[in-house]
Amino acid sequence: MIVLLQPDADVAAVSAALQGLGLWTRPMVGGSPVVIEIESHSAAVTEEQLLAVAGVAQVRSRVSPHPRVDAMARTFELPIAGGTAVTLGLDTVLIAGPCAVESQETISQTAALVAHAGGRLLRGGAFKPRTSPYSFAGSGIAALRWLADAARQHGLGVVTEAMSELHVDAVAEVADMIQIGSRNMQNFALLAAVGKKAKPVLLKRGRGADTEEWLMAGEHLLAHGAPWVLFCERGVAGLAGETRNTLDLAAVALLRHAHSLAVAVDPSHGTGRRDLVVPMAKAGVAAGACVVLVEVHPEPAKAKSDGPQALLPAQLKELGDYFGLPPVVPANTALPPYTSRYPEFYKKSVPERRQAVIANLGLSLEAQKYLRSGQLDLAIADKMSENVISTFALPMGLGLNFRINGRDYLVPMVVEEPSVVAAASNAARMVRLAGGFRGDATASVMTAQVQFDHVANAAQAAQIIRNRSDEVMAAANGAIPRMVARGGGCIDIDVRVLTEDDGLMVLHLYVDVGDAMGANVVDTVAEKVAPLVQTWIGGTVGLRILSNLPMRRLVHVECDVGAEVVGGAALADGIARASRFAQVDPFRAATHNKGILNGIDAVAVALGQDWRAVEAGAHAYAGLGSDYRPLATWTRTVTGLRGSMELPLAIGTVGGSTQAHPGVRTAMEIVKVDSARELSVVMAAVGLASNLAALRALAGEGIQHGHMKLHARKSDVFETQPGHK
Ligand code: PEP
Ligand code: MN
Repeated sequence: MIVLLQPDADVAAVSAALQGLGLWTRPMVGGSPVVIEIESHSAAVTEEQLLAVAGVAQVRSRVSPHPRVDAMARTFELPIAGGTAVTLGLDTVLIAGPCAVESQETISQTAALVAHAGGRLLRGGAFKPRTSPYSFAGSGIAALRWLADAARQHGLGVVTEAMSELHVDAVAEVADMIQIGSRNMQNFALLAAVGKKAKPVLLKRGRGADTEEWLMAGEHLLAHGAPWVLFCERGVAGLAGETRNTLDLAAVALLRHAHSLAVAVDPSHGTGRRDLVVPMAKAGVAAGACVVLVEVHPEPAKAKSDGPQALLPAQLKELGDYFGLPPVVPANTALPPYTSRYPEFYKKSVPERRQAVIANLGLSLEAQKYLRSGQLDLAIADKMSENVISTFALPMGLGLNFRINGRDYLVPMVVEEPSVVAAASNAARMVRLAGGFRGDATASVMTAQVQFDHVANAAQAAQIIRNRSDEVMAAANGAIPRMVARGGGCIDIDVRVLTEDDGLMVLHLYVDVGDAMGANVVDTVAEKVAPLVQTWIGGTVGLRILSNLPMRRLVHVECDVGAEVVGGAALADGIARASRFAQVDPFRAATHNKGILNGIDAVAVALGQDWRAVEAGAHAYAGLGSDYRPLATWTRTVTGLRGSMELPLAIGTVGGSTQAHPGVRTAMEIVKVDSARELSVVMAAVGLASNLAALRALAGEGIQHGHMKLHARKSDVFETQPGHK
């Protein structure tokens, strides 16, 4: 039983009064309100008698001897000095390191492999409790600095053991989390000293301790000021013969599921054998551990302590991969300059390519995780579409070598057709030699259409609307206040009478949609404005929807490329003639434009754009004149060729699936554009590069040569259509 005292109660006086009732009392230190415990074998008293004692506020039958442990949150946001905080208690976190910090060099090597495997904290002992006085006992204070330097250098947190009160200050200075070793679980003076440091503690279970004793040790730490305790099962004395200890996974499950605590599992000390560490780590997580703590060494055979249980570097990586952990990239490391040049990228393995990008771009952990899994969560998929039964994956590649307006761009491309990514990258490499692409886009002005029908005098009605254009625009902007606040909004209108006799006419509203694709914005505007205008002109209101031919949202790109670079003067001539062919023949122009859209669509898919809108706009624009025309043209210059292209592109960098899909967010992190306008220039440059690559192949060796080489890679699996450029 416990009594809770009133805030201003005199603890000594209350204790004395309770003792006067024949009770055995014990004030519980720390915290407020003060609690006095009454042992159950004290003389029986009624609750009324206790409440009658001056200073007693409440009486409770005692539920647990470790109330602070019981009240502790299961999760903890662990700050990492100079790094990114780690959430403990949820997803699996890997903590790894050598048994002992042996030298500056080995701990630095070990930190690198821990980060590579996705470990978030580096653990190693500067002071080692050893059963034998002849065993290596750690390198002491100096090792703390080596450990901290290695961890910081690789973006990792530090866990290290405080073995005696003498070293608690030094340990607390470098440790993000302080370890209490198994042999010290009930060293209460040490627990008090460590608790006072107000740092989270990793508390190893004593080899002979039952779970209640373990929890009580945690209570000591919390009572002295530790903010949080991570209970670590590391094996108990059992009937182990060939194993070092008996890893008590039932205790892991008990603390996690019955006590709702965060638990770590240490299969290294739990088994003492490298061959059993990985399976028992997995079992520990299955039992409920949220942290896996393992020992690893660059060369276990040379380890000064616990070599037989240290994982090999490759085993640690395998473990990290099993838990889906992305490599840790230190936040404070200066990254190399952003480049689109990755020579011989195609010769590398997929993980090597991914690692190169991760290391160079400083991608977020979320993006790294996405790149490794390529998965779209079903819950997100279910929100993105209807009648969802699964997801569907396509390869994501990188368009390399792009230099546009003096800046490099690495361009994510998602496409099922082999050769699109390689062709664009290859052409971009050629263009780069002549300075790269130049481009610009108009403001992101979308077009909304409002159809009016059966208007009595359409010509007059059109004039009425024109005269009141300010009112139209004000009504339009009234419907989209947030867009207006961001600097966008309706900037102009236009009215056209389509057929006079039946009074069919259309109002265009031109709306600057900023970084959005803008379909929803202009649809909103069209619906808002229609009834107002109808009150002026009569007739009926018809459709109110965007036009997918956004004539005021145009992108222009151009580039030069040297004749020698494309393969000589004859080939350059051939490319120019191929361009001419497309200009005078719509049958060729259709294929020419399809080759441009091969590149643009692949970027559109990767970046979560509405590629049907992109396609509709491009083809409609190509067909605006009397004939369907090529979007891009190539003409001979003194040194080679100049390519030029213009098309409308309704794409956005905010809203829609740009926010919902983790793959799109990842692609956005890779391409690093600041605005929709900038992205549209990048997309157009990829289109122009695709066009150049296609024309060069067609005018030269023919499409089948290189193209079919790429197709051959998958021809064992299925037949595909040859080139459609
Ligand atoms: C250690 O973690 O290196 C260690 C000595 O562990 P334990 O205290 O569990 O024996
Ligand atoms: Mn050890």
